[in-house]
Amino acid sequence: MTDTSMGHIIDGFGYAKGLRERLAVKVAELKATQGITPCLVVVIVGEDPASQIYVKNKGESTIAVGMDSRTITLPDTTTEADLLKLIAELNADAAVNGILVQLPLPKHMSSLKVIDAIDPLKDVDGFHVENAGKLAVGLDGIVPCTPLGSLMLLKDAVKTYGGGSLAGMNAVIVGRSNIVGKPMAQLLLNQDCTVTIAHSKTKNLKELCLTADILVAAVGRPKFIAGDWVKDGAYVIDVGINRIEVDGPDGKKSKVVGDVDFDAAKPHAKAITPVPRGVGPMTIACLLNNTLHAACLQHGLPAPEGL
Ligand code: NDP
Repeated sequence: MTDTSMGHIIDGFGYAKGLRERLAVKVAELKATQGITPCLVVVIVGEDPASQIYVKNKGESTIAVGMDSRTITLPDTTTEADLLKLIAELNADAAVNGILVQLPLPKHMSSLKVIDAIDPLKDVDGFHVENAGKLAVGLDGIVPCTPLGSLMLLKDAVKTYGGGSLAGMNAVIVGRSNIVGKPMAQLLLNQDCTVTIAHSKTKNLKELCLTADILVAAVGRPKFIAGDWVKDGAYVIDVGINRIEVDGPDGKKSKVVGDVDFDAAKPHAKAITPVPRGVGPMTIACLLNNTLHAACLQHGLPAPEGL
């Protein structure tokens, strides 16, 4: 008999839609009470097709919640010095509340240097070392969008299906990038989880994953986490976005899958995010959340509550 208390699917798409609706209300309030319309500027260098789609989606989503959106497209021949000059101008422009430089940048530029040129108060990706440091010491700063969205989904799932808080749970994060794995670890530590970060040199990864009450996969390898790596009753957050070729009725077609073997893991998990429609939609919703937060910080207003 199927255990109906297991295998819940965490609806990131629906949660992100609700979050965008709540944000739109807060943006309208900010406009009405303070005369402030948050403005997000996205800078894209070069013509990477995937980046262009992401940037278009970000612009449309920004406008849909009532914020101002600007996209600045630069040729891939742009020098690092020119990009730094543009960032300095945007930092100085009081009408600009959020600056996002779409990654990856062309190889002749240093992403670290470019990101650290952004005013930390306008760093809506939360990648600036000052924001990373604030997260590490538990101060109010801007938190990277994908881990923030993952945490929102996780807290909601634990509340819905487990009835409690995250405190004391064993969390294993597979992946230690600066944009996903490390900030996710800090967020879970701040929630009083016991956190382990795994990476490509980790030994006995399957056994480690089997200790996880919360398993976060941010590896970038399709279906890397097998079903029998998931402890019964675990909460599984799959951050991975991997495009693979599969056989279709008319030949090969491309499909997006996560880092977790969803079908095999689902029966073990208490709740699990699907790919697509899991963490992915939360990333843009949290970018909008961060833009609103940044606008409030810049005007000395408290961070919006109740989101
Ligand atoms: P990175 O490539 O920067 O990091 C991958 C991490 O996985 C590294 O820490 C690496 O270890 C680890 N890893 C690789 N192979 C293994 C292995 N065999 N065993 C254990 N660990 C391993 O990726 P990102 O963090 O940027 O992204 C991870 C995934 O999340 C990707 O699929 C990406 O597309 C997706 N993503 C999704 C987003 C969303 O909006 N949903 C946003 C951002 C990313 P080591 O450090 O030792 O090399």
